[in-house]
Amino acid sequence: MIFKLRKKFKKLLIYVVFVLVFLKAFQVILLPKTLPADSEDELPERFLYKEFDYGDYKTVKLLHTDTGEIEELPLDIYLYGVVSAEMPVDFEMEALKAQAIVARTYTIYQIANNKKHENVGADICDSSLCCQAWISKDNRMARWDEKLREDNWIKIENSVNSTIGKVILYEGQPIRAFFHSNSGGMTEASRYVWGGDFHYLQAVETSGEEAYSSYQSELRLSKDELIVKMKENFSDFNINFDEENWIQILENTETSRKSKSN
Ligand SMILES: [Zn+2]
Repeated sequence: MIFKLRKKFKKLLIYVVFVLVFLKAFQVILLPKTLPADSEDELPERFLYKEFDYGDYKTVKLLHTDTGEIEELPLDIYLYGVVSAEMPVDFEMEALKAQAIVARTYTIYQIANNKKHENVGADICDSSLCCQAWISKDNRMARWDEKLREDNWIKIENSVNSTIGKVILYEGQPIRAFFHSNSGGMTEASRYVWGGDFHYLQAVETSGEEAYSSYQSELRLSKDELIVKMKENFSDFNINFDEENWIQILENTETSRKSKSN
């Protein structure tokens, strides 16, 4: 009798564990945007990702730089084109989701604060050199392997859809969310790169980047090429290659990046 009960109890236990595992998997699949409660508790309040009322930012007037046309798109639909232009689709899902949140924050900040394209009635343009990159679904799909197109696009849509309503706030306002692919182990304070000294854009360590394919790079230039490149940015640039130590570092930023040389 006891043996039978134990056997039944064992079966019941296996069944309960199975149901719990199933429910957990089901919740992860259906509710990917829910953050675990304890991870929110550990973050200082000003850095929390919160559901954000899009308010005036529900649509984006996008300037197409090649044609000069302006297209009005719902914010999150616009973000499909940004995420797929700014990050390779084969990156991890969590990286794509982070990209979606940063791009959403950057977009809202631009609409609210940057009136660069106001004269033509646009909020933002599609150039990475000016605002942030954007590509249409058709153009993006055409550049992917035909067999992967559908799955790739679903992955992009999921990265945006699973983060709907999430923006990065500082003291209740969307931050100026600059982004880049790699910072060589440490970010730089914004005042040395973009100008503007923001409390939330200070130098921080970014460990774990070593595995990234573009972590290190090397550029070889002839003396003539060096002169041309330097004169593009500094018209009064002058150098004498006959001098000893004709190039040397004079000053570093706090994160050891070269800020001045002669
Ligand atoms: Zn622009």
